[in-house]
Parts: sequence; C-alpha cells; structure tokens
Amino acid sequence: MNISILGSTGSIGTQTLDIVRDHNDTFKVSAITGNKNIKLLEEQAREFSPELVCVADEAAAKDLKIRIKDTSVKVLGGGDSIVTAAELPASDSVVVSVVGMAGIEPTIAAIKSKKRVALANKETLVAAGNIIKECEEQYGKCIIPVDSEHSAIFQSMQGMSDRKEIKKILLTASGGTFYGKKREDLLNITPADALHNPNWDMGAKVTIDSSTLVNKGLEMIEAKWLFDVPMDKIEVLIHRQSVLHSAVQFTDNAVIAQLGVPDMRVPIQYALTYPKRMSIPDNDLDLTEYASLTFEKPDTDTFYALELARWAGTEGGTLATVFNASDEAAVELFMRGELSYLEITEAIEYAMQSHKNIKNPTLSDIYNADKEAREIVYKRRHKA
Ligand code: MN
Repeated sequence: MNISILGSTGSIGTQTLDIVRDHNDTFKVSAITGNKNIKLLEEQAREFSPELVCVADEAAAKDLKIRIKDTSVKVLGGGDSIVTAAELPASDSVVVSVVGMAGIEPTIAAIKSKKRVALANKETLVAAGNIIKECEEQYGKCIIPVDSEHSAIFQSMQGMSDRKEIKKILLTASGGTFYGKKREDLLNITPADALHNPNWDMGAKVTIDSSTLVNKGLEMIEAKWLFDVPMDKIEVLIHRQSVLHSAVQFTDNAVIAQLGVPDMRVPIQYALTYPKRMSIPDNDLDLTEYASLTFEKPDTDTFYALELARWAGTEGGTLATVFNASDEAAVELFMRGELSYLEITEAIEYAMQSHKNIKNPTLSDIYNADKEAREIVYKRRHKA
C-alpha cells in the first residue's frame, strides 16, 4: 500500500512512519510533507525514499532541494504543494496530520482523488464538516478517523447493520490536568501548570485544550459529522485511566467499546489497514494492571467549553469555526501571559456571542469567520 503523509514531521506523522518501518513489506511511502523542519524531512526522505517531498515554506523547500540533490526525490514548495501530495496518483491512502485549517483543502483534494483518507486533523470536520460530507456524498465515503476516540467509535460500529441502531455515542475524556478543580481553584493557573498531562504525550495546544475540555468539545463536533448523529446523542464521560477509548450504546442498550493502552499507532494503523488488523509491538494491554476503570459525568459548570461546543455543533455553520478559532487565539494569548486561564473559555463564549452564524458556509465564509474570531479574541488581550 502506498501512502502520502501530510505533516510527516509531527507526532502523528512520525508515528505513521514508525508503523511503516515495522511493516515495510506492507507499506511504502509515496509522499511526505512538512512546514519547514527540513532537517527531519531530509532524514525521512533518505530513509523512506518517497517520490515527493512537499514543504509549505518556499525558502525551506529551496534549502531541502539542495540538501537532497544527490537523491531522486522530488521537492515542491508552497502551501499548494500539500494539495499536490494529497492528489499524488501513486498513493492509495493519505494520512492528513497537518495542523489547523491547512488540513481542509488537502482533505478535499484527497477525497476527490478517491484516496482513502486517514484523518487526524480536527479542523477539517469541525470547520468544514458540511463541505466534506457533500464531497464524500459525491466522490464516495473514504474518511477513516485517526483520533483515538473516533477510531474507537468507528471500531465499535463495525458489525452494526443500520445507523438507526445507534442510541448514543459515549465519548470518553481523561478529564485533563485540572480534573476535580472548581473555578476558584483555577484563578492563577500558569502555562506551566496547564502543560502537564499524565496519560497522553501531546503538544502544548492539545494539552491546554484537553485541560479546558475544548479538545473534547471539538471531538463532539467531529463525531457529529463523522457518524452522522445529532449532538444530543453524543455524551461525554470522564474516564481517568484512558483505557476505554470511547463506546457506542445501541438501541438494545448493548454498549460496545474499544480498549487498549494509550498508543496512537493503533488508530493510525487501523485507519490504513481497515477492515484488517496487523500486529503492533510493545503495546499489550493487561487489564489486571488496572484496579478499576471509572466513569463520571463531566463538571460542565467549571468546564463549560463543553456546553459551548454543544451549542456550536447544534447550530452548525460557521459557529463551529468560531469555537475553534477563538480557542486557538485565546490559548496563544494565555501561553504569552496575555489572557488568564479562565479567560480562554470566556473568550470563546464572547466570540461565539458576537458572531453572525452562516448556516451552510462556503470555504471563504469559513476562512472569514476564522479570521474574525481571532481578531475579536486578540482585542481582549491584556496590555503588558
Ligand atoms: Mn482525542
């Protein structure tokens, strides 16, 4: 199987390459892309010999071209080159693990080129869910989720004979760094306090989003689009052990879940090999090591970003883009000490209240809403 990895230098990208390394008889890399980390792109290009390497940053692309001119690997530069990698005729599957809104257009290109799309980018469905679904209706269903929760839900639905059999989706959350805390405990939280997450090793943005439960909110909206269920059928459960990665409850109240040690290689590999499975080294789950698995309702008074996400997902349209973009801007300001921790969620609420929703947005409506939401949040920053 030939795969293109969009965002090969990030966490999902490098773990995809680990999988390729472990099963080099099954997978071949046809394209990799990155932003500007050309040192790592060079290493990856030399090890995996793809047909194409794309670098979003033009200057970095020029640099890389010189560095690997002794190989037969082709180098392209610029944001559009990522779309070229998504459409590459040689590849069967495209892993979309680029960060942010930059995931939308390559995903559309991959769907139109009839690739299997292993989707790890959240913004694509959160912001452009209506466009992506239309595209899949026209070109064929091809997205397999890579996020651990959505992969678990997807796996739990195998064997289901009709979508009407779904009673609800049980989306699990670790609870984040500030689990059990109340608003008054969170007044003086610093970025360093927020960056500690015991179960999953994630980037700074996702770790903060996981602590505010914004990340879970984004996942609720993604689940709505991926599984075609209304928001009121999506329930969030706090599950501190991060062993049960999400579940589906069916109309007969049977709950089917997927469990495992926290290991992103499982959902990444399954997205590529579905409906088949293959071995993965060093991730055996020993359930006897866990004294108990616990499940609780989330504290939506303290972590009301979940309610904001439910609102965004129910309304649909550009409001979901605003939820995402205002959070991104607010987290950036928090990291720079220009917003307090509690003001992250307050900024999202304010941006959403200020927004005039567009129900069935075009790509340009979505990009405009994204930009406006960021500007609204930047205006709230504290003067140093
Ligand atoms: Mn997740």
